[in-house]
Amino acid sequence: MPRPVLLIHGGAGDITDSRIAGKFKGIKEALRAAWEKLEPSSNAPGNALDAVETAVRSMELDEAFNAGYGACLNTAGEVEMEASLMEGRDLRSGCVTLLRDVMHPITVARRLMERKRHVFLGGEAALELALSTGSERLPPGALITESARQALRQFKEQQAAGADTTYARTELDEARTDPKGDTVGAVAIDLDGHIVVGTSTGGITGKWPGRIGDTPLLGCGTYADNTIGGVSTTGHGETIMRYNLAQRILGAIQHQGLSAQAAADQECQRMTKRIGGTGGAIVIDHNGQVGISFTSRRMAWGYVQDGIIHYGIEHNEVLQEPLVPINE
Ligand code: ASP
Repeated sequence: MPRPVLLIHGGAGDITDSRIAGKFKGIKEALRAAWEKLEPSSNAPGNALDAVETAVRSMELDEAFNAGYGACLNTAGEVEMEASLMEGRDLRSGCVTLLRDVMHPITVARRLMERKRHVFLGGEAALELALSTGSERLPPGALITESARQALRQFKEQQAAGADTTYARTELDEARTDPKGDTVGAVAIDLDGHIVVGTSTGGITGKWPGRIGDTPLLGCGTYADNTIGGVSTTGHGETIMRYNLAQRILGAIQHQGLSAQAAADQECQRMTKRIGGTGGAIVIDHNGQVGISFTSRRMAWGYVQDGIIHYGIEHNEVLQEPLVPINE
């Protein structure tokens, strides 16, 4: 029987040094807030769905991440958010796109999943669902941070200077620019082997209004199947959706018998080699084994297992600290 595991990411991409501390803080806060939902106690069995939603909501509130408050801006200077949520038992899911003016797209995705009628809703319809199921409508611009404005200014300057802002590259080791990369995602497996995955994003800075990325697409940004595993991805959406990254990783586990780590490594590397553009993935297989891989410069990630938080952002980096801080 697998032990409960909660694994999250805070985005793959060209993350600058000055943003690392904020990301680590946000990753640990999200893990601590969500772990208590997953760990079985005398009052309640662990719940993977609540744990995933809680972790993603925590990062949506945190401006260190590109989801909810702090989401990146399109060329018109506006926020258009996307999220998806999937349960691996019955393959139930809810996906939303082009959503504005609410703090928690992941919760809107959950409400859609629970309604059971449709799987994917966009724009005004997604906003209507949000408002009719308890989300508060925020004033226009309330999700915009100074750092998101600055990122858009920089993007426009780079574009004006003739830089390639398509993020498409063909060789792994070639000098390249990645998107800033602060999308968030969570994968959890509970004691019964039930797997849930959620992913939430503002997309990429300087995207066209109306652009839809990989995050709300099943098999690209998110997938969960209790018989194989669960995956949340991050990185250059145009690349990830053309490659079907989440589905390919699960295919490598299912058909090639690879471990979660080997499958994530293989498919992230193959994606970037084949079509350029970088990305990363977090994976939990049906045995509760974890995989973490990225071809971008950095990816913030963390997981909890057996009372320890494991986390990192550089390649081959694994830091650790107790789940319950020692001074408590
Ligand atoms: N995948 C997201 C997108 O392209 C961005 C990210 O992961 O940071 O919309």
